[in-house]
Amino acid sequence: MSAMYHRCEVCNAEAWLVSDHCHEREEREGVRTHRGYLCTSCNVTLGKYRDSREALKEKADALQKRAEILRELAHYLMLGRYP
Ligand SMILES: [Zn+2]
Repeated sequence: MSAMYHRCEVCNAEAWLVSDHCHEREEREGVRTHRGYLCTSCNVTLGKYRDSREALKEKADALQKRAEILRELAHYLMLGRYP
C-alpha cells in the first residue's frame, strides 16, 4: 500500500493518505479498484461501515442526537440548574 501526504478527499484534513479501494469488488471479482486517497481515519471508518450510506447516516444521526443532549446539559449546568 502506497501513502502520500496531502488532503483527504473526504474530510479535507492534511494527512498521510492511503489508497482507497472497493473491498466488495475485490472480494467478489478479485479486482482491486482504486477510488481515491483518504486519511487513515476516513478509510478505516468507511471500511468499518462497509461503505454503507445508511449505516453512516444512522451513526451521524446518533452522534447529532448525543451532541444536542450534551449541549442542553451544558446549558443547564451553566445556569446552575439540572433537568
Ligand atoms: Zn479523512
